[in-house]
Amino acid sequence: MVSGFSGAGKGTLMKQLVRSYDNYALSVSMTTRSPRPGEEDGREYFFVSREEFERRIEEGGLIEYASYCGNYYGTPKEYVRKQLEKGRDVILEIEIQGALKIKEQFPTALLLFVMPPSVSELKKRLEGRGTESPEVIKRRLSRAGEEADGIENYDFIVINDKLEECVEQMHGLIAAAHKTPQRNSSFIREIRQELQAFAKQ
Ligand code: 5GP
Repeated sequence: MVSGFSGAGKGTLMKQLVRSYDNYALSVSMTTRSPRPGEEDGREYFFVSREEFERRIEEGGLIEYASYCGNYYGTPKEYVRKQLEKGRDVILEIEIQGALKIKEQFPTALLLFVMPPSVSELKKRLEGRGTESPEVIKRRLSRAGEEADGIENYDFIVINDKLEECVEQMHGLIAAAHKTPQRNSSFIREIRQELQAFAKQ
């Protein structure tokens, strides 16, 4: 899971990561917010009405969902399940409440937090995007302040200064996470059992 303040550049980073390596699958979330110019339904998000979103919640079709700055955002179950079955690393670009809910369901999920190099750079990026009104930008910056309180729940932070370097760092961290004992418990158990059998011979 990848979280980060609005304007930290998560979207661009994730697209580049998926383009650079083929073991990743990027989950497409569902949201009730309106598309920004250039965003396409089914690519950045599935854009739906509140009624449709609430229906999906009732049907149990979302792994998690959260409310963010007045809109719903959620992760559809089906795609994630299929990609995990194919053995791919599924990337969820979601905010902190959702990330923590998923961590409860999947304790070995890796949590990365993308930070901007500075707050002034964050503000500049949000304003430079030119897609949100000053009120929305203000709301998103104040939400960033709240999210900053939860950063210690994450496994790693990545500073998005230079795109390519940041992509390499993320890939490295994910590769390293695959090697922790917690994420290799069945392999470790097998080796242990074989060793025990060997010792008994
Ligand atoms: P934006 O409107 O800027 O695209 O996204 C706003 C926030 O919602 C971001 O922090 C983004 O990571 C988060 N988000 C996007 N999709 C989901 C989702 O499926 N679930 C949750 N909990 N948050 C999401």
